Amino acid sequence: MAANNLRCKECGAEYELGANFFCEKCFGPLEVRYDFSEMNADEARRRIQAGSQGIWRYSDFLPFDGKASDPLEPGMTPLIKADRLAERLGTTAEIWIKNDAANPTHSFKDRVVAVAIAKAKELGFETVACASTGNLANAVAAHAAAAGLDSYVFVPANLEEQKLLATDIYGTNLVGVNGNYDDVNRLCTQLADEKPWAFVNVNLRPYYAEGSKTLAYETVEQLGWKLPDRVITPIASGSLFTKINRGFQEWMDIGLVEGEMPVFHGSQAEGCSPVATAFAEGSNICRPQKPDTIAKSLAIGDPADGPYAVAQAHRTGGSIEMVNDDQIREGIRLLAETTGIFTETAGGVTVGVLKKLAEQGVLNSGEKVVVYITGEGLKTLDANRDSFAFTTIDPDPASFESKFGQEVAV
Ligand SMILES: *Cc1c(COP(=O)(O)O)cnc(C)c1O
Ligand SMILES: [Zn+2]
Repeated sequence: MAANNLRCKECGAEYELGANFFCEKCFGPLEVRYDFSEMNADEARRRIQAGSQGIWRYSDFLPFDGKASDPLEPGMTPLIKADRLAERLGTTAEIWIKNDAANPTHSFKDRVVAVAIAKAKELGFETVACASTGNLANAVAAHAAAAGLDSYVFVPANLEEQKLLATDIYGTNLVGVNGNYDDVNRLCTQLADEKPWAFVNVNLRPYYAEGSKTLAYETVEQLGWKLPDRVITPIASGSLFTKINRGFQEWMDIGLVEGEMPVFHGSQAEGCSPVATAFAEGSNICRPQKPDTIAKSLAIGDPADGPYAVAQAHRTGGSIEMVNDDQIREGIRLLAETTGIFTETAGGVTVGVLKKLAEQGVLNSGEKVVVYITGEGLKTLDANRDSFAFTTIDPDPASFESKFGQEVAV
């Protein structure tokens, strides 16, 4: 295994690969460190290509001894070239959609949860838990069921009903908390102190976060072992955004892919935009906000990786943008109409930002832009209810002609 230890992102203090998540010296976040110096690029590529058709093909880059197994293995989701979307946006850049709604519980959270739960099993935990904005709840409940572990899922009580139903079905202990995500997260941090449970995004957060690197690896493979020029992702805590960057960096470091680090653009909803606001103000301090947006899966008012996300946007020559709820709805519809992919509100945020960047003339002709679509539209159906058009007719041709005649006529 190439994973060595956990290291503090702030002061560099090192810790064992256990259920540790913050530095005892400075309270900074911990992250998994690897030693890839022995790794040969050709051999690494061969091992990847001989692997499974999911994220475990990247086991050499994940914090496990050998290969983790998982009956609900996520990953290898489609990467689609979206020419009609590019045309509608009036851009001559190549737009690629990475559709992570195609995972087992229909969001990118399957990746992070699969890694965290495999690690929880390795560390001997019997119960897993999480603080969720919705998709994590679905994924933890499902992967715990598949792994035969008990689970507790804590969510804000006002979550979309579709997400609650799609969590409870797996036989988890679903706990609705009267408060927002940041309240739920604070509660779970307190409980993690008292209960012998693996909270996937609290005490197992360093492993959980590693799962997002697989999005970078897949993108490189699916582009024919090439880097994109620019990427656009949503930001909640900032974990996904920073780990896609880390994934590219690791493969560049060991020579699995050549070229320059892509430009990174992060996307937030105006109603919960601590990271975009910090970026706009030229600060790296993300002042906490009280979320008020339809993009509930991104509604983290106090994002753990916010400052790292801001720094990364600057470092790569990118930005962190925000769009309002109407632009989110418009983004959902635009993606559906041009690609056949129905995304949830988080995807509406990302497509909204893609549109904004296209309008600002930021996208260069011929460059490859990868847009990460992280969740499924059927989970946030109500978002587009206001623009829902439905005409009924009587079951006879005359009725059809009278109501649709004008539109059908060529
Ligand atoms: C959780 C989530 C994200 C991003 O989460 P980070 O905390 O920034 O890693 C993006 N999209 C969807 C749909 C999510 O559920
Ligand atoms: Zn430290």
